[in-house]
Amino acid sequence: MPAKAPPAVWNLPKILETVRQYWGFDTLRPLQAEAIRAGLEQRDSLVVLPTGGGKSLCYQVPAAMTGKTDVVVSPLIALMKDQVDALRQCGYPAAALHSGLAVSERRQNEREIAAGKCRLVFVAPERLLMNHMLRLLQRLPVRAFAIDEAHCISHWGHDFRPEYRRLAALKEHFPSASVHAYTATATPRVREDIVAQLQLRDPHVLVGTFDRPNLVYRILPRTDAHAQTLDIIRRHAGQAAIVYCLSRRNAEDMADYLRCHTIRAAAYHAGMDAELRRETQDAFAQEKLDVVAATVAFGMGIDRSDVRCVVHATMPKSVEHYQQETGRAGRDGLEAECVLLYSAADAMRWEGLIDKSAADAERGEEVAAAMKQLLRQMRQLCARQQCRHRMLTEYFGQSYPKANCGACDVCLDETDDIPDATITAQKILSCVARVQERFGAQHVIDVLRGADSDRVRQCRHDTLSTYGLMKDVDKKTLTNFVFQLVDQGLLVRSDGEYPLLQLNAASWEIMHGKRRVRLIQPKAGGVKRTRTEKVEWEGVDRGLFESLRALRREIAADRGVPAFVIFGDATLRELARTRPDSLAAFGHVRGVGQRKVADLGERVVQHIIKYCNEQGL
Ligand code: ADP
Ligand code: ZN
Repeated sequence: MPAKAPPAVWNLPKILETVRQYWGFDTLRPLQAEAIRAGLEQRDSLVVLPTGGGKSLCYQVPAAMTGKTDVVVSPLIALMKDQVDALRQCGYPAAALHSGLAVSERRQNEREIAAGKCRLVFVAPERLLMNHMLRLLQRLPVRAFAIDEAHCISHWGHDFRPEYRRLAALKEHFPSASVHAYTATATPRVREDIVAQLQLRDPHVLVGTFDRPNLVYRILPRTDAHAQTLDIIRRHAGQAAIVYCLSRRNAEDMADYLRCHTIRAAAYHAGMDAELRRETQDAFAQEKLDVVAATVAFGMGIDRSDVRCVVHATMPKSVEHYQQETGRAGRDGLEAECVLLYSAADAMRWEGLIDKSAADAERGEEVAAAMKQLLRQMRQLCARQQCRHRMLTEYFGQSYPKANCGACDVCLDETDDIPDATITAQKILSCVARVQERFGAQHVIDVLRGADSDRVRQCRHDTLSTYGLMKDVDKKTLTNFVFQLVDQGLLVRSDGEYPLLQLNAASWEIMHGKRRVRLIQPKAGGVKRTRTEKVEWEGVDRGLFESLRALRREIAADRGVPAFVIFGDATLRELARTRPDSLAAFGHVRGVGQRKVADLGERVVQHIIKYCNEQGL
């Protein structure tokens, strides 16, 4: 028999052919080619790409091309399950081994793995180094390991998992296999830690750009969290959204409020029992639920790629958290909106929480100082009227090329300066002076609004000249103005359990008419549509799009898989734009691989033809 020619390991057309065959994509995203090349050449690598950057494809392609079995280490069963489901829908042989499987299922998977039938095997880190597993994998033998969410190995990261530490032994057990680490966390310290812990040899380090151009960022003064959120959610009627809230109570209240306004919403937080949490996650994945109002407990394990909107009803405690939470929007590359409703009161609440947790922690002070630094940076991001894309990109140490992003509230010019801001400020400040700087924001606002409360009467503050001076401004708006002044350093809010409003030199300058003030409010006309959004919907038959979504839901429910693994939104929009009426035309749509043509082509094409007939198209 003639010897087989050695496979050409690095061959771009071949890579594209594979990507086209399984996933129906025609192009690669930035750094995917380089990362796939490292995988094919078995050169250790560290790949840092933002959420939605397309990391999974980087380790899926080499295994498909070599026909060998590679292993993916992943921290969460839910993530593994979704990935395996999605791959199987594409005709890509993959299996997972985790504690959630029935014995018979696990045996079946192990048999398939041992027979070399799987291209990818997903394993949890604690399971990987068990004797039984090592024997199975060494017999194959495994060619390459992909470590997903690799920042979990570092305690400098925001999600340290001790079980990841054991991966340090990987190179000893599999000296000839290459190791490829993937993460979206960018700090140099975490990066170095990953390379050192995994003992990567001369790794190819690939770091992508952190900007997410398809996200529209808005940071608005919070006047009424519930009403503002409802407004935002209504812009995305019937679409997936996540609303992040500070506490469990807040999350419950928000979900109740949205439900009262006929939004399909539910709460999600760590205080709910595991069963209910799972049901909520599943309902969201299967599109039976549009909005999840959640604490930060929600997110990992959710990779629904068509989340069109992320609302922060309160400010997160660091820019890293903000980046990660907003990162869950628009993973399919289509436009998505991220709105943060900001009040300086949030920062003060966080400070209180940090102090409390520092009080009973070891090295508490040191940790608290670091956390407050992160908090300050987050607050700056909110308070500064500067392009949001630029600020975020620069925060992560990269430079931003555009002068106007066209995709943030600042560049779209969506906030108004309120007229007479200086007079408004003077009224507020003189009221603080009248109550002799001995009261908190709540009381000062009551006096300004002419409230008839016991406290006001007891203190005889209804006799002050500032009593009722701002009757016509609603309470939430006035509260926001007070905090805007605090944020700008024009008014002081003291520390402690009962913070008081106090004056400083700047306050007096304003009262003496020596200094002008800016206060902002959202523009009356609401938000603008961005150019990208118009382009993305250009020529899309909305009726057909919705009807295809319903079909997707039905297919997903039949198969017991999340809807997004059937088709992404980008694919549905293209179908609703081009209305393919043959299998061949269907096969040319982005996101439709060979398996899906065979598997779903007939059904989808018939659906489109029927729709067109009904509509007389
Ligand atoms: P990450 O793990 O980096 O957050 P994923 O691997 O989940 O990102 O990919 C995000 C989305 O982008 C998925 O829906 C995926 O199918 C899609 N995607 C990945 N690579 C491409 C590509 N080259 N062309 C089009 N879509 C892609
Ligand atoms: Zn901008």
